[in-house]
Amino acid sequence: MRKITVAVDGFSSTGKSTIAKQLAKALGYIYVDTGAMYRAVTFYAMNHGFVSDERFDELAVVKSLPKIQLKFVLSGEAGQSDITLNGENVERKIRTLEVSRQVSKIATIKAVRDKLVAMQQQMGKEKGIVMDGRDIGTVVFPDAELKIFMTASAAARAQRRYKELLDRGDKVTYGEVLKNVEERDAIDSNRKVSPLRKADDAIVFDNSDMGLEEQFERIHNFALRVINQ
Ligand code: C5P
Repeated sequence: MRKITVAVDGFSSTGKSTIAKQLAKALGYIYVDTGAMYRAVTFYAMNHGFVSDERFDELAVVKSLPKIQLKFVLSGEAGQSDITLNGENVERKIRTLEVSRQVSKIATIKAVRDKLVAMQQQMGKEKGIVMDGRDIGTVVFPDAELKIFMTASAAARAQRRYKELLDRGDKVTYGEVLKNVEERDAIDSNRKVSPLRKADDAIVFDNSDMGLEEQFERIHNFALRVINQ
């Protein structure tokens, strides 16, 4: 069977990674969460005092890029991988609301994007990959055979992310999460370098009122159709 590249892009908290992970598993493909890479760079920048609510030292981030090593390693859960930052597994630490509040600023930096996009293209050069992010279908793999653009109402997305954070035991309010989702959408969509936008040939997928099973079934069918073409 021929191997394809699947690009899953869309707004924050649309459930991209859940679907992308399931699809990769069903197809026996590699799954790459590119948001984790931007989050890990952000975590490094926060720990070094380069970015906070009050501060954004873009030059310091750029200068420290050669010192930032990212790798995906197999996690305890079958077929899943965790991101490591200079050898430390930071998978859990990068998912906090604090990191979410800074990540879109870091993602505006061209040198950061250039480094991460090059790594992503390297990971996908053999195809057989499902990658999720904001610029996969437009910049990383403009020739991907299947492109999905996920969207849902801001309220539905904030509700999902709020539940996720509560389930982890984080202390957050729904209002804070909604504000963060809306702020990230605005920064991601309006930045100069690789803004979030739908690729012309992407399938728009609104899952505001759709359960996980139905989403998976539909997207799996899209993929099988392309693979068997
Ligand atoms: O996917 P996730 O919500 O974890 O991504 C976190 C942030 O990383 C996004 O809000 C966006 O600012 C940035 N990002 C990006 N390009 C990607 C993936 C993520 O700019 N391909």
